[in-house]
Amino acid sequence: MPSFESVTNLPSECSVLICGGGPIGLTQALLLNQLNIDCVVLEKYPTRLGAPKAHAVNPRTIEIFRQLKLDTERLRRLGTGRDEAGLVWFLNTLNGTRLGSLPYERQDDAVLELTPEPFFNVAQPELEDWLRTEARRRGVQLCDGYEWLSRSDGVSTVRERKTKQDHQIKSKYLIACDGSRSNVRSSLDIPFDEKAPPAEMMTFHFNADITKLAGHRRGALYFFFNPIVKDYAVIVTHQLASNHVLVAKCGRGIPFDESYFTQERSKSIINRLLGTKDLQYDVLATKAWYMSVNVARTYQADDTFLVGDAAHAFPPTGGLGLNTGVADAHNLAWKIATVEGGFAEPSFLKTYDAERRPIAHTNADQSAHNRRQIGLLQDAVKAHDLGPLLEETKANGSTAQNGASSNKSHVDGSDINKTKQSQSGPSPSEEECDSFTDQINKLMVEPDSRAIIDHALELQREHFDSLDLQLGYVYGKQRDTSRNCADYVPSGEVGARLPHAIIDIGASELSTLDLVTPGRFTLVVTKDTVLGNTPPELVKSVNRVILGSDFTLRNQAFWQTLNKLDRSVGLLVRPDQHILARVSSVEDLQGVLKAYLQ
Ligand SMILES: Cc1cc2nc3c(=O)[nH]c(=O)nc-3n(C[C@H](O)[C@H](O)[C@H](O)COP(=O)(O)OP(=O)(O)OC[C@H]3O[C@@H](n4cnc5c(N)ncnc54)[C@H](O)[C@@H]3O)c2cc1C
Repeated sequence: MPSFESVTNLPSECSVLICGGGPIGLTQALLLNQLNIDCVVLEKYPTRLGAPKAHAVNPRTIEIFRQLKLDTERLRRLGTGRDEAGLVWFLNTLNGTRLGSLPYERQDDAVLELTPEPFFNVAQPELEDWLRTEARRRGVQLCDGYEWLSRSDGVSTVRERKTKQDHQIKSKYLIACDGSRSNVRSSLDIPFDEKAPPAEMMTFHFNADITKLAGHRRGALYFFFNPIVKDYAVIVTHQLASNHVLVAKCGRGIPFDESYFTQERSKSIINRLLGTKDLQYDVLATKAWYMSVNVARTYQADDTFLVGDAAHAFPPTGGLGLNTGVADAHNLAWKIATVEGGFAEPSFLKTYDAERRPIAHTNADQSAHNRRQIGLLQDAVKAHDLGPLLEETKANGSTAQNGASSNKSHVDGSDINKTKQSQSGPSPSEEECDSFTDQINKLMVEPDSRAIIDHALELQREHFDSLDLQLGYVYGKQRDTSRNCADYVPSGEVGARLPHAIIDIGASELSTLDLVTPGRFTLVVTKDTVLGNTPPELVKSVNRVILGSDFTLRNQAFWQTLNKLDRSVGLLVRPDQHILARVSSVEDLQGVLKAYLQ
């Protein structure tokens, strides 16, 4: 279990008080610290939970870590690469009937055309330790064991949990990174708009070595269709040899009650899914939790901001929670620094809510949609409702590539709602499980039912390949939800993330994203662009980089055309690597920035 090293003494004042020392609070602190904004992180507990939650770290998150100049190579070594975690499996038991498998996100070499930092897997506690170590090394003030209680006139009351003593700390801003049950959000009466009723869930953290049992079935995620669990369950494998989390819905045999789960009872479920009774291991923890789909009605109240799970909560189907939170923190940090540096009016901070909240709605809807799509596979293997699926299979052919069968923009929560009430009663008997296995085996050999299962599997692809959600969001533009999440096409439009291309600077091979200096706007021009000199008052906030002398592009024509860069146009990029405008003169540059930073 990761433990925090020390309790820093609480200062009496800081510019930004961050409530919550989870992954998002730590990232927020590192981003502010890089921009020389002094901040203090309060963390209620002296230790974080050892059981991993997140594992999927997407390219945009690692690009943000890269801009933070964190050692992303070291982080990758703490996790698992594509050899071990490149697939998602759909099974009856780990060593039993296989329904199919799918690639897990874009971990192939071709993706390097689109991002310098491909997707990978790392257990959340390892990620948090890495962030925490770096925050401490960079001098961020981490105050562990302090609970935020309230705030009035810019002064927060904070309780030291060990001594039960209350302290006061004054701050210009408060950032709530205190998770989905955020105290800060409740104290501001900001509603957490429920997009679907919560479902009762149970996780089991265990340390079995499943390497031999899995054989060639190596992967990051194993979805199980087996009567021992309600509907289906997933094992997230952080290390094949030692670290797994089973996530199951509560229902028959799985009450919403951690105290029910002795080692024996937990193992009786896990073993049935693994298909063995012989493995020696320990169940390290069980945790009951609510899976919800919520987005806060606003992300800002005066000088207080909601970031990460405090602002939104998604089902884990899609691996978007932590990743969305990191991008929230990135969006907010440079805006606060710009206001504090005197380059923008405080009203500019409203753009944080305007830009980030729509992204959370999109990601919440997609996460819930992914969950519903797995319901189709579950229906197929349980032979509950094969009629509509069969019709659809006939109509679309069994190789349909997207999940057009349900509407993503509307979350009705029906499948989540189905599980709200825990069912009591004993676990299914061995005979029941065996007869289900026989049934699946029959379905897998019978051509019609096999076609349905194959089609239902195809409908899951988008769940595990969502590059467009990860890299393709455009600030100020609603995403077209009919578009497949896998279809990321680099775009030079205003609000989009600057497209990646490989560049050379001296002997170094870098990315166009590396051209963007933290905290400064970047004006990309060509050697022959005629714009005039940057006005003195903008020299501090705008960095000019010249294609052809400061850097060279490997594939010049493609990137230059995409960004419409020529001798009369410069490309203005925000400090967070999103495109702000194209400018044709220094007057234009002045006008664009003035209008934007108001
Ligand atoms: C099973 C599962 C799998 C997941 N997989 C993924 C995945 O693959 N990819 C992904 O992107 N996301 C995933 N997620 C979601 C991810 O875990 C969360 O989005 C992430 O933990 C949110 O981080 P956070 O820092 O916002 O909040 P939290 O992790 O909840 O941290 C909040 C912190 O604030 C502290 N705190 C709370 N109240 C106070 C207070 N009053 N004073 C001081 N401190 C306080 C808490 O102690 C805690 O340390 C998964 C979630 C689950 C449940």
